[in-house]
Amino acid sequence: MDTVSPEKRSEIMSKIKATDSKVEIAVRKYLFAKGYRYRKNASDLPGRPDILMPKHKTAIFIHGCFWHGHKNCKYHRIPKTRTEYWKKKIEGNSFRDIRNANKLRKMGWRCFTVWECRLKNDFLREMEKLEKKIMSIS
Ligand SMILES: [Zn+2]
Repeated sequence: MDTVSPEKRSEIMSKIKATDSKVEIAVRKYLFAKGYRYRKNASDLPGRPDILMPKHKTAIFIHGCFWHGHKNCKYHRIPKTRTEYWKKKIEGNSFRDIRNANKLRKMGWRCFTVWECRLKNDFLREMEKLEKKIMSIS
């Protein structure tokens, strides 16, 4: 896999603003700018992958740390009120994520999850890691 030239990188970055609610859009824009083609929110598949790349047999989930219970993450804190409710809800989400990923794998899809905190922390690094996975032979 080739790395991005500084020019290309700043060109890509100028199109991307990985702000709080926009990480998903930023990931799509990045991939699109790099020439990848995909489907959004594939509602016909388990878990409705945020990004589906049929050519690479890849399903990508972009997970918010709170809702999907990112382990050992500072953004994943169970609220102090209605603690049990939130715990159950978020645990339920995590189990569903695992189940859906397993279903997808059985259907022949590779499943990758990108966490919001990591994208916010170092967007390009995360995307380069994701690209390596996409381009790797399963
Ligand atoms: Zn996180």
